[in-house]
Amino acid sequence: MGDSRYDRTQIPEESKAERSAAFGEILHSYTKEEAILEAQRCLQCQMPFCVQACPITQDCRGYISLIAQDKFDEAAVLTLRDNPLASVLCKTCYHYCEEDCVMGAKGLPIAIRHLKRAALELGNSSLLFVASAPKNERVAVIGGGPAGLMAAWELGVRGYGVTVYEEQPFLGGQVDTIPKYHLSGDELDTDLGRFKNLDVTFRTGQKAGVDFTPESLLKDGYLAVYVAVGASDPRALGIPGEQLPGVFSAIQVLLAMNKGAQPLLGREGRKVVVVGGGDVALDAARSAARMPRADVTVVYRKAKADMPAGEEEVEGGEIEGVQFLFQRTPLRIVGTTQVTGLVVQTVAPGPVDATGKPNLVPVPGSEETIACDTVIVAVGETSDVAGLPAELNLSLTTHPWPQGRKEDWMTDIEGVFASGGKSVVYAMAAGTAAANAIDAYIARKKGRPVVLRPDPFGAPERAPPPVGYGGPSWHL
Ligand SMILES: Cc1cc2nc3c(=O)[nH]c(=O)nc-3n(C[C@H](O)[C@H](O)[C@H](O)COP(=O)(O)OP(=O)(O)OC[C@H]3O[C@@H](n4cnc5c(N)ncnc54)[C@H](O)[C@@H]3O)c2cc1C
Ligand code: SF4
Ligand code: SF4
Repeated sequence: MGDSRYDRTQIPEESKAERSAAFGEILHSYTKEEAILEAQRCLQCQMPFCVQACPITQDCRGYISLIAQDKFDEAAVLTLRDNPLASVLCKTCYHYCEEDCVMGAKGLPIAIRHLKRAALELGNSSLLFVASAPKNERVAVIGGGPAGLMAAWELGVRGYGVTVYEEQPFLGGQVDTIPKYHLSGDELDTDLGRFKNLDVTFRTGQKAGVDFTPESLLKDGYLAVYVAVGASDPRALGIPGEQLPGVFSAIQVLLAMNKGAQPLLGREGRKVVVVGGGDVALDAARSAARMPRADVTVVYRKAKADMPAGEEEVEGGEIEGVQFLFQRTPLRIVGTTQVTGLVVQTVAPGPVDATGKPNLVPVPGSEETIACDTVIVAVGETSDVAGLPAELNLSLTTHPWPQGRKEDWMTDIEGVFASGGKSVVYAMAAGTAAANAIDAYIARKKGRPVVLRPDPFGAPERAPPPVGYGGPSWHL
């Protein structure tokens, strides 16, 4: 327990010894008393920077206040009011709110994300969303990841009929690759269970570009189409040997661990090298490290301080026995019928380039071979737009996911919108923005005024923004 206002009420964790051998969730729930104690640290700032930093403008100050007063049921309602994927987010969100919490200046920020989990677990969160009067107008969503699901919720609550088309046999998008030590697996079903009374239909195993196109959906009578296909095609390293058995993409490994009948790395005693330095690389490394007697090394081309992965992830990897080799660039993968090694070269910062950053220069004579039987490539993702019409003129340069024009996310085909996001909550924010634009587009066509999303639990008035709240500070 904290001994001052600046100490966080400790979040219970799986013991270090046990966590590296299993996929059980690392973070455990707060008790009621712990949650109240943590919530009572909150200053209830007049200008809530925490709310302002949240891409979906979750009223976290509000639910923290309710928890501090032991009103967990009310805190659950307030949480779900703006956040239909709260069971997922309370365990996976990168908690942008906590970075801006004023308590962080002198101590540890309020555990805003973990208090969201307390609100849902200790309050009554078995609630069903309510739709306003049916509009008898249908919208199609392509992609059942966070962006598509958020848009479906926004439109469903407004009374639209929504069909979500998803190519995989399951919903969730990249959420399905998040390791079970972060997200045990039933959270998305819990969230989607609350959609039951909305007119939202899910059609899995349906791929745009193969089974239908955005234009065919418009011809079928949908008034608008939202393309939310994300970016989950793994990028290749582009070095010799990448086709050898034993080379996998991080997404392939993580998806197989969560959904596959057999984990790809099931054999005992694998010697694994993961190439990359982001969160996905760390997810793959920490998952591989949980396999029996595995030996796992992350190879990253820059220094530790430059790793894009979150600090918690890197620390977690270190605790769980993952080793790191910094300032190494991969040259080739070697082996004949199976990977036997990864050849790397040391790189050092050289002259500063036009962007003001030093170029990485190979150190002569520094080639070395890391013996391994498995290489996991985690150097980013790109999107698969094969089969989508070129007339959409999708932008793929600013972000890896396809998107339309920034003003309203509409593409060059009227009525077809497209966007995505860099994390679950940013993708949800993108889904909200697209749903708002779609609603405004249909309202314009039908000659009716645009109305804000009604309260999703049927309250007569939409709740006002938090007092002192000055509008979101983030940008998509
Ligand atoms: C390993 C990993 C771990 C991550 N961990 C976190 C985390 O802890 N916290 C966090 O906030 N974010 C995390 N992220 C990022 C986050 O998951 C993504 O930013 C988010 O899922 C993007 O949402 P989206 O809806 O835009 O796209 P996606 O999640 O990619 O969803 C797009 C959906 O569209 C479907 N689709 C694609 N093409 C078609 C087609 N032609 N027809 C029909 N359907 C199609 C896909 O199958 C997919 O279901 C992680 C990502 C990865 C890969
Ligand atoms: S959704 Fe994420 S950023 Fe928003 S309040 Fe919750 S933890 Fe913070
Ligand atoms: S910024 Fe921090 S202290 Fe202030 S209201 Fe938000 S959570 Fe509470």
